[in-house]
Amino acid sequence: MVDESSIMDFDNRIQYLRRTDESNYSLLERIFSFDSQTGSQVIPQSLRSKVLNYFGRRDSSRNIIETPEEVVERIEKQKIVKINNIWTGESTLFNSLRSDRPGIRGSDVEKEKKYVHGLIEDSKNVCDFCHPEKYTPEDVFGRIQGKHSITAANLAKYDVWSSLVIFEDHNPLKFTLDEFDDYLKTSFQWFEAVNNNDPQFTYPFFIWNCLPRAGASQVHGHCQILMSKEPYAGVQTLIKAYQNYKKENSDDYFQDLYQAHRSLELSHKNGDTLFFANITPIKEKEIVIISRDPSTNYKSRETIFKILRCFIDVMGVFNFNLSISCPPINNQEKFPYITRIVDRGSLLKSTADMGGMELYGSSVVADDPYKIIKILKYAFKTE
Ligand SMILES: [Zn+2]
Repeated sequence: MVDESSIMDFDNRIQYLRRTDESNYSLLERIFSFDSQTGSQVIPQSLRSKVLNYFGRRDSSRNIIETPEEVVERIEKQKIVKINNIWTGESTLFNSLRSDRPGIRGSDVEKEKKYVHGLIEDSKNVCDFCHPEKYTPEDVFGRIQGKHSITAANLAKYDVWSSLVIFEDHNPLKFTLDEFDDYLKTSFQWFEAVNNNDPQFTYPFFIWNCLPRAGASQVHGHCQILMSKEPYAGVQTLIKAYQNYKKENSDDYFQDLYQAHRSLELSHKNGDTLFFANITPIKEKEIVIISRDPSTNYKSRETIFKILRCFIDVMGVFNFNLSISCPPINNQEKFPYITRIVDRGSLLKSTADMGGMELYGSSVVADDPYKIIKILKYAFKTE
């Protein structure tokens, strides 16, 4: 197996598994369908210099290190890897040209860091969340006060029970494990409080939209906390997948999903908390974490925290969505806590990261899951 693994070698890897590891191969086939093809096109002479300039691989001094023929060949023949999750309907297209781009974000990270720092500083002056008790509404049962966070009702609610956990620190990117622990504990206490107040609401849902590209209207650090009678559609999809898989295979879907990624060398674990770089990511760098209740289980929240810190500090991801799908309160079923984290791109880009394909077709993704898991494995090894 080559040292620099890539999702673009997916078909070779699958064929290798088919020959050498029948049980993992059939597990992969049970969960996913996959296909890998080359799309061809012709570059006219008049477009060649533009293509060379835009797509030619460069050295550190910005000199193109490929021949024009090599560049044109790469553009004229583009490999596409398609992967579908049979149980959830999630589906992703990886394109060699997109995932080929060197580095994670390269020199743009420093520029964006400066921009984000300015945005955070400037927004301090007119921030309602810096004084939550004065400038945010409270729930009918009052507020949950943590050590480093406090709850507030949502001025414009998503749903009947939809509130916020507001961090003490204005800067959403600056948080320690102790602070993150407190954000979770405050959130989970709120879930209990809602359930006590309104017992038919049993499904907790936790979301963190960090910075505007991830959908946050306020820069100040905060998470969305919701309780519903029925699970939200995305959570329902996971529950259905889990139940149908059990019915048809008598196995645990999430354990098998982890094992499938493990056989592809895309997984890692921290104690009994499992995680992997998803081969059907909704968008860039999606990580899925399978754990126990992160508000009470140390390894679970430590894993989420370390992955988040690695996204921010190592990969330069400042706009992200994080969601925690939870089993219903007081539920006896062994449904795990599923945390997903996804990069929503740079604030310096004016184009949205999601278009019609992601909304109505399949996700088109550039970042290679092999590069992401390599960075995360290193982060977990060195601490
Ligand atoms: Zn603030």
